[in-house]
Amino acid sequence: MKYFILRPEKDEHLGPKWAYGVVMDPANYDQAQKCPVCGKFVSMLRWAPPYRIRLSSAKPEKWGDFVWGAGFELLVSAHFKNIYEAEGLRGIEKFSEPIEIVRIGKYNACNFPLPLPIYHSVLISWGGADRDDKASGYARHFPGKECPYCRVGKGEWEQKRTVIDEKSWAGADLFIPRGMDSDIVVTEKFFRSADQYGFTNIGLIPAERFAQDSRLHYGSWYLNDLS
Ligand SMILES: [Zn+2]
Repeated sequence: MKYFILRPEKDEHLGPKWAYGVVMDPANYDQAQKCPVCGKFVSMLRWAPPYRIRLSSAKPEKWGDFVWGAGFELLVSAHFKNIYEAEGLRGIEKFSEPIEIVRIGKYNACNFPLPLPIYHSVLISWGGADRDDKASGYARHFPGKECPYCRVGKGEWEQKRTVIDEKSWAGADLFIPRGMDSDIVVTEKFFRSADQYGFTNIGLIPAERFAQDSRLHYGSWYLNDLS
């Protein structure tokens, strides 16, 4: 099966083409997910209610199906949620109730003249499949100092491409693989839905081209040249 890494369009988390979100006070967080083997944290802290954000743009044409930003994992539109459910996609643990948009562009939301967009915060589980370390060209430059299950450990690391161990895949169409930071991987089924329905503000990077090297800067990635 083919997999893709889910990113914002052109890898732009904070605009300008699409609106982004910023968490407003009070910002609450639940504990991150922990590795069941070593007990170390393997996900971001998880945003918890009340879900209140500032949306960066008041222009409806900039309201994508996916909203990225600061202080949360990912927001999705009501349009995406409907398609996700109709197509039987899997992997989102939970859609929040519609989040509260407190400010939009330069407006207080209560003075905004148009209907506000509807977005849900989503949680995507860590551990939906395992990275195939050997096929991915994975190396940690501090051998032996990592957990064999989650690969949290000391020292710098790299992977030359992303290969998922097919046997470990648990059936989710969106997941964060064991061994990778917080990168969301999606399936061909998700890719086809994205194409068919034209989900906006996403970039789908073929997994075999998605390389990472922690020495570049934390969590950084680049497109390999397949050679
Ligand atoms: Zn671990």
